[in-house]
Amino acid sequence: MARRVLLLLLFAAAAWSQNTTAFFQPGKIRALIISGRNNHDWRETTPLLRQQLVDTGKFDVRATEEPSGMTAETVAAYDVLILDYNGPRWREAAESAVEEFVKAGKGLVLVHGASYGFGEMELLGDRHVKTGIHEKPWPAFVSMAGGTWSAQTGHGRRHVFTVKYTDRENPIGRGLPETFLTSDELYHRMNMRPEAHVIATAFSAIETGGTGREEPILWTVAYGKGRVFQTVLGHDTAAMMEPGFAASFTRATEWAATGGVKPLVETQKEPPIRVLVVTGGHDHAPSFYSLFNGREDLAVTVDPQPGAFSHDLRKMYDVLVLYDMYQDVPETERRNLREFLESGKGVLILHHALASLSDWQWWWEEVRAGKYFLKEEPGHLASTYLHDQDLIVEPAGKHPITDGIGTIHIIDETYKHVWVSPEARVLLKTDHPTADGPLMWVSPYQKSRVVYCMLGHGPEAHNHPQFRQLIHNAVRWVAGR
Ligand SMILES: [Zn+2]
Ligand SMILES: [Zn+2]
Repeated sequence: MARRVLLLLLFAAAAWSQNTTAFFQPGKIRALIISGRNNHDWRETTPLLRQQLVDTGKFDVRATEEPSGMTAETVAAYDVLILDYNGPRWREAAESAVEEFVKAGKGLVLVHGASYGFGEMELLGDRHVKTGIHEKPWPAFVSMAGGTWSAQTGHGRRHVFTVKYTDRENPIGRGLPETFLTSDELYHRMNMRPEAHVIATAFSAIETGGTGREEPILWTVAYGKGRVFQTVLGHDTAAMMEPGFAASFTRATEWAATGGVKPLVETQKEPPIRVLVVTGGHDHAPSFYSLFNGREDLAVTVDPQPGAFSHDLRKMYDVLVLYDMYQDVPETERRNLREFLESGKGVLILHHALASLSDWQWWWEEVRAGKYFLKEEPGHLASTYLHDQDLIVEPAGKHPITDGIGTIHIIDETYKHVWVSPEARVLLKTDHPTADGPLMWVSPYQKSRVVYCMLGHGPEAHNHPQFRQLIHNAVRWVAGR
């Protein structure tokens, strides 16, 4: 019986660890930031440390604010632990989990206040004072850290100083400039242990309240089969945003996790998509322009009607986004627009631009593949519109533009009795009674990619995350990206 229970437990444990594996991005270093208590502002610093790691493209990062609950199982999935923590000791299971984790060959990184060691802090006046010194020391922590605060340790006033890599062969600093400047606290008289291998120092000047000596700034420790790195830098987010801090911290975290530092994969930056946004002939909320904010892959120019097509568009733009409602486009401008389309560029037509150029059959029939009838015509009713409709919008089939968008719930304007080409490929549809059904389609036009989207009347749409993503996807797709 006991044996069966044990087996069941083993199966459960195996299943659990497989499940946790699935939560991580494949191929990335798994880092856990230990936080939640510090005499520094951990609510600000922990997200920044996380972002710096994520920005390298090499890490999948989690954080815990309740480290006392850690166990051997909860840390097992990680490659490296980062201490942005300075507070009371943890339960024994948590402490031995961290110690065994490093001993077994994994990584540990200590940032700034983490070297202050374990103990309860209290705010007295404007200064944090350790009140828990009576707590028994954690000898394994002192060994792993390679250097901790003692009664003699301190720092002068914060100032700008030069940090110098003294070990040019260590992977953390290899290939970086020999020195960097930073504005931070310069810790002095740390209680260093012989196991610490210092890789960078800084001169602590008497004039700034220092010791007149070189002080250790960055060091490594071999602990069991594992690797420990400590930086005394990183008093606050300003100090952490110093390029020298970010480089040493991210490289050292990779080194602690893997024993090396791989060069950054230079992502080939594509040139931005040159977009001409055409407005005019119809009111719109200024929030429309925010649709393109924060899109580094787009270089956007806005040109209102009249005259938006008055020059050769092919040399200057890759994509036209038409949000105008305009009829009086002279023949020369129509030729420019036609030449743009025939040159294989992209066009995204939005919302009320379904009612532009109503008299140009080639345009509305072959290119836009849809028409809003401003008035009744033989064989067709006048189209109608209704503002502020509560819509459920569903993708119609699979397409790169709607990939990952899913069902959209949005307040927007609907049109009814519009003509949609039977050859159009519908991307979005709704069952709403005030609409005909198709809300977005790809035109059958062959020489360029042309997409129409009926959504997009006001701020409810312009600020809607799914609509914003949809428009960004559509611009990229019509550009051929
Ligand atoms: Zn500090
Ligand atoms: Zn509208």
